[in-house]
Amino acid sequence: MKPVRVRFAPSPTGFLHIGGLRTALYDYLFAKSQKGKFILRIEDTDQSREVSGAVESLISSLHRLGVDFDEGPGCEGEFAPYIQSQRLTLYHQHAQLLLDSGDAYHCFCSSETLTKMREEQQAKGEFVKYDRRCLSLSKAEVQQKMESGEKHVIRLRMPDNHRFGFDDAIRGHVEMDASQSDDQVLIKSDGFPTYHLAAVIDDHFMQISHVIRGEEWLSSTPKHIWLNQCFGWETPIWVHLPLILSTDRSKLSKRMNDVSVESYLAKGYLKEAILNFVALLGWHSADDRELYSLDELCDTFSLDRVTKSGAIFDLTKLDWMNGQYMRNLPLDTITERSLPYFQAAGMPIDNTSVLSKIVAAARERCTLLPEIVEYSRMFLERLELEASDKELLKSIDSQRVLAWFSTELPKSAPLDADKVHSLSKLCMESLGLKGKAFYTPLRLALIGVAHGPDLPTIFSILGEEEAISRINLKCEQG
Ligand code: GLU
Repeated sequence: MKPVRVRFAPSPTGFLHIGGLRTALYDYLFAKSQKGKFILRIEDTDQSREVSGAVESLISSLHRLGVDFDEGPGCEGEFAPYIQSQRLTLYHQHAQLLLDSGDAYHCFCSSETLTKMREEQQAKGEFVKYDRRCLSLSKAEVQQKMESGEKHVIRLRMPDNHRFGFDDAIRGHVEMDASQSDDQVLIKSDGFPTYHLAAVIDDHFMQISHVIRGEEWLSSTPKHIWLNQCFGWETPIWVHLPLILSTDRSKLSKRMNDVSVESYLAKGYLKEAILNFVALLGWHSADDRELYSLDELCDTFSLDRVTKSGAIFDLTKLDWMNGQYMRNLPLDTITERSLPYFQAAGMPIDNTSVLSKIVAAARERCTLLPEIVEYSRMFLERLELEASDKELLKSIDSQRVLAWFSTELPKSAPLDADKVHSLSKLCMESLGLKGKAFYTPLRLALIGVAHGPDLPTIFSILGEEEAISRINLKCEQG
């Protein structure tokens, strides 16, 4: 078998889309599992759609997630350059080969002419495609139009009455009629190749073994097969990944915040959860296991377990997964990842031991990293009490609890978990209180809310001095 070489070939039109990440990840996993190579190729031949900075942001997103490519921009290999706008000569040479062999022709139709033609075809209920009016131009006519500088494109001449049959690694045998394929533009009037020409040429010269891409490209495959045939090249193995759908099975929204990988990272999703979630958008293991690290995915992933049917993008599942990783990744990792959110909230913490205690308590209850910051406010700030809680603290029983602790705490340091338990027991016994009547005033005084972690954790995070000061404050105010 030929060595496995797969490519992720995004157009730099913005951010890294969840669907793009899925393709890149499957490329990466497949390459790793087959000891092959994963290539990043930038398809920037549509200059009108290009967004500046998009290539850098795409590369940095892949890098942040650890989906690293073996060859690509900035990581040049044997087949460089990996940016299509730097390979224009190659495309022009090959377009010329097709013109010479009669497999392509010049077309001088203006966009007005084409619009009119399409409207007429639609009105007659015909299949809308280029009617080849320029195919009948003589060599001399073409020559004359070119010399007078008429705008033109180069089109592929698709075969008539031809059925394309090919085997897709996921969909099995697929058959399509050539009559459904337009005479595709190969070179546009601005001199740039279209995706179709450039991708086929690059896949050949970069020795791509498997073309892994979204199902939306399935209908273009006959054109790509035909182009390969015209050049006399072997076709790669086609691998069309299932569509990604919303939970109501409609097409996934294109709104940047809903589908950009960067926006999920910024919202505080962990890269481990994002990768794991995206890996399951169309693939699952034989035992339906759900949680996988990237290394485990490399060991388990195979194309034959990718499904044909649409994959559902279910945010509740991503949230669940993120919660799992929040709890199960090493505490230091979560602590470190939460730091930028503390900084962004204007709450820099220099005491790392306090921070990791807070994170240890918070991560049990939080789904996303920024929630840790919100959770930590009860320790790092003195929260304003709700009016009803203020009232509750004024009650005689509440004040008895606080007064008791105010006297006993200073004598009891250091306050480890055992000490906190025995003090609590003693207080309840001596005051004849239990349950809420005991815990609520204490929590309200210590953290400003009635719910939170257990008392030993609260004392350990606040430290004795701060705990005593908070209790005294509420005792005096009461
Ligand atoms: N440039 C195409 C895209 O952005 C690549 C399709 C393919 O992988 O062949 O979707």
